[in-house]
Amino acid sequence: MNLKTPIANADRPYKMYASRLEKLGIIKLEDFLYHVPSRYEDYSIISSIRHLQAGEIVTIQGTVAAIENEYAKNYKKLQKATIEDNSGTIDVVWFNQQYITKIIKKGTKVSLSGKVDWFSRKLTIASPEYEIMYDNSEPIHTGRIVPIYPETRGVSSKWLRRQVYKILQEQNVLEYIPDSIIINNSLTNITDAIQQIHFPKNIENAKRAKDRLAFDELFLLQLASLQRRNAWEKQLVGHPFSISTFQKQIGEFWKRLPFTLTDAQKRAVKDIFADLASKKPMNRLLEGDVGSGKTVVSAIAMYVAYLNGFQSVLMAPTEILAQQHLATISNLLSSLGVKVDLVTSSKKPRATRAFDILVGTHAILSDKINLDKLGLVVIDEQQRFGVEQRSIIRQKGKNPHVLTMTATPIPRTVALTLYGDLDLSYLDEMPKGRQKIKTWLVPPQKRENAYKWINKQIQENRDQVFIICPFIEQSESMQTVKAAAIEFERLQKEVFPNLKIGLLHGKLKSKEKDEVLRQFKEKKFDILVATPVVEVGIDIQNATIMLIEASERFGLAQLHQLRGRVGRGDKQSYCLLFTESKSPQTLERLKALETMHVGAELAELDLRLRGPGEMYGTMQHGAKQLKVASFSDFPLIEKTRRATESIFPKLSQYPNLQEKLHSIIIQEVSPD
Ligand code: ADP
Ligand code: MG
Repeated sequence: MNLKTPIANADRPYKMYASRLEKLGIIKLEDFLYHVPSRYEDYSIISSIRHLQAGEIVTIQGTVAAIENEYAKNYKKLQKATIEDNSGTIDVVWFNQQYITKIIKKGTKVSLSGKVDWFSRKLTIASPEYEIMYDNSEPIHTGRIVPIYPETRGVSSKWLRRQVYKILQEQNVLEYIPDSIIINNSLTNITDAIQQIHFPKNIENAKRAKDRLAFDELFLLQLASLQRRNAWEKQLVGHPFSISTFQKQIGEFWKRLPFTLTDAQKRAVKDIFADLASKKPMNRLLEGDVGSGKTVVSAIAMYVAYLNGFQSVLMAPTEILAQQHLATISNLLSSLGVKVDLVTSSKKPRATRAFDILVGTHAILSDKINLDKLGLVVIDEQQRFGVEQRSIIRQKGKNPHVLTMTATPIPRTVALTLYGDLDLSYLDEMPKGRQKIKTWLVPPQKRENAYKWINKQIQENRDQVFIICPFIEQSESMQTVKAAAIEFERLQKEVFPNLKIGLLHGKLKSKEKDEVLRQFKEKKFDILVATPVVEVGIDIQNATIMLIEASERFGLAQLHQLRGRVGRGDKQSYCLLFTESKSPQTLERLKALETMHVGAELAELDLRLRGPGEMYGTMQHGAKQLKVASFSDFPLIEKTRRATESIFPKLSQYPNLQEKLHSIIIQEVSPD
């Protein structure tokens, strides 16, 4: 076994835990070492029993004078022990952990850590961490600063700690960052950093170790994207597209548009034209809030491809979105002679080659789809596709131009780190005349009135309403689904008995989801109750009210994305943020939504306000999460950017670094 050994091929007991460990991102042995503690317990004060005082958190080391199971009320069992050292004795008690009396016997030497307190009028340590002391071995779980890890069912911190300890005794992580960078940035070496992040001598060391790992995380991320950018830049397209030859036709396209482009759209089109005309294939990310008008920008690019004799594809994550795109693109381009077709899992294209633009879902990736004149790939909601899918579609053509689009609000700084290999265009402006979504924070005492108001809007204007249930867990668990179902019942029975209500959640099959959305679109329901993980991008023109429960649990950028599902038509739209929170900071944070309306700006604010420990749920499927570093650590982003740029030209001199980089790139390519 070495650090690269996959858990699935490793010795027992790792092997037995492989699938559980995968949930924690531990795939190979080395990943244990990068499974960073979420916090520490300081059990480093070792005290003699005689000196113990109530309230202290300490470690005692002594011999078990007595231990037994004792029945208590409710058929529960207590495990009671008396521990003695050469200064005195103390009682220790555990609750309902009968196996302890099998592990710890009378006469065993033990080390125990926990809080000293009064229990039945005697000084006692309740539920301490425990371990048996063997000669010549140091304690792992007690008598030191002890790491607490992110856990999952059946994998406790204690178990993880033991594995990490064992691995660290046998294996070393070798340094891969060049000396010059270590010295210039005063970094701890990696061998020490890994040791100290798990078993720190003191908290200061743990912090320095964390700084090193955070540096590495951002450094490697940026180095990898520099490498991707470099590889991309070496590619040449056979045929850069001509723009000037087709001035007249392009002018015709503009003339037929029922609106004029926003300045932001004009800038994006200019960027894209420059890319398309270049010999190097375009690799651009178009970021803009829902409704900012990304589709028309992609349409002009596809039209230019058509004029140059090339096919384009437009790939969307869901069937319903693909159909929506088909309608939009046909509308814009069919009358100009462009043949547009659709492929999804349930709809084959009419003829195999007779299209200029193929719109579709991942069904486009199928071998049966022949795209021998593919010149441009457009990917909508790019974060919903894995790196692998993106590369399959590209390989259908010969170095086609690639335009990816996203409505995920990413601050510029983060985009530069995450997608340093992409060129960026931001649509930071909404089309003129678009009404801002009126947003209000609704405290508990106004809840009833808000419901009355909604009822009235529905009755009088036939408005449709989204109600988003609280975000409960990171990924959509059964718990979240259950909460949504309960809220659905409550609303139907108690609040809106006279209205038709639908329910949408992530545990529905995608066909069922599409069906619910279709029915909502056809006004079969007045209200759609949904979990936060509902499909993005869907256009329901008549939905004008977005109500979000427990809004304090979401990040600002997420709330902004949620509210983006209304306000698609001409009617005034509203977003009601329900919250029970009384914290002035929280209310202040949420109030930002009443006045701010650009996603990337809210995302930036989110980053600045977010306390280090605070975590909001992610709806951005596949969006990368950092383990140690933070995207709001602007100085570190800057520092690591400088380091990557200095080292990249000399990368070939550093085989360890190359190997490390290679291993993270492989991880990234695995489907998300
Ligand atoms: P998204 O960026 O969310 O993909 P769409 O491309 O779907 O946005 O555009 C949303 C709506 O705005 C569409 O109905 C589109 O026709 C319209 N639109 C796009 N650009 C403009 C503009 N410059 N002025 C007015 N309406 C526009
Ligand atoms: Mg769109």
